[in-house]
Amino acid sequence: GPAVEMTDLSVQFRSKRSRTVALTDITMRVEPGEFVSILGPSGCGKSTLLKIVAGLVRPTTGSASLMGQQVTRPQDKIGFIFQRAALLEWRGVRKNILLQAEMRGLDRKEAGRRADQLMEMTGLTGFENALPHELSGGMQQRVSLCRALLHQPPVLLMDEPFGALDALTRETLNTELNRIWRETGTTILLVTHSIAEAVFLGTRVEVMSARPGRIVRSLPVDLPAERV
Ligand code: ADP
Ligand code: ADP
Repeated sequence: GPAVEMTDLSVQFRSKRSRTVALTDITMRVEPGEFVSILGPSGCGKSTLLKIVAGLVRPTTGSASLMGQQVTRPQDKIGFIFQRAALLEWRGVRKNILLQAEMRGLDRKEAGRRADQLMEMTGLTGFENALPHELSGGMQQRVSLCRALLHQPPVLLMDEPFGALDALTRETLNTELNRIWRETGTTILLVTHSIAEAVFLGTRVEVMSARPGRIVRSLPVDLPAERV
C-alpha cells in the first residue's frame, strides 16, 4: 500500500476572533520510495500538510494515513527536518545525532554504528565532537539530516530544509540528498519555494495555491537515466 495517503483533507484554524482555512480538498497518495516535491506560495499550507502526516496537526475533516495506519497522534515512522537545524549547542555532532536514539530508546551500539554510517554518507566523519556553532549552516543541516534518519524512518518530511543556505551549498546538499534517497529508499516529502529544486529532486511535483490552500496540479517528473 501507499506510504502516505491523505483523503479529502481540510484544515481550519479557529480562534475567538478568526477562522483560517489553511487547507482544503487535499487528496494525495505517495507510494513507497517516491520523492514528492510540494511547491507553493507562502501561507498556502505546505507546513501544515507535513505536520498532518507527522501527526502534529489534526485535520478538521478527512484523514491521513502513514504506512497503512491512520494518523491520530505524533508519529514514530517519520523523520522531520526544518529550515533551522535546531541542534543542541552544547552537544557535539555525534551526540546531537544520537539524541534521536536516546529519545526513542534505541539500542546504543546499533545506533552508534548507524550514526557513523550516516556521518560517513554526509561527509561529517572527523567532525564527531565539533559543536554546532563551529560548523557552517550546510554542515549543521547535514547533522539534522543524520539525526532525522537515525531511526531509519520509512518517511522523511522536509520543510524548506536548505532555504536559509547559500546557492552553492544548497546545490551540494541537494545532490547529497538525491544520493541518500536512492541509497536508502526512503519516501520523501519536500516543501520548497524553488521550482528548479522541486524538479531536480522530485519524482513528482505537487503544486499548491493559496486562499484556501489546495493542490492545483500534480506533475510527474521524467527522470534522466542517470538518476533512476
Ligand atoms: P514559508 O516561507 O512557506 O512561510 P517558512 O518555513 O519560511 O515557510 O516559515 C514558516 C513559518 O515559520 C513562518 O510563517 C514563520 O511564522 C515561521 N518562521 C520561519 N522562520 C522563522 C524564524 N527564523 N524565526 C521565527 N519564526 C520563523
Ligand atoms: P506555508 O508552509 O505554505 O507557508 P502554513 O502551513 O505555515 O503555510 O500556513 C497556512 C495557513 O495557516 C497560514 O495562513 C497560516 O497563517 C495559518 N496557520 C498555520 N499554523 C497555524 C496555527 N497554528 N494557528 C493558526 N493559523 C495557522
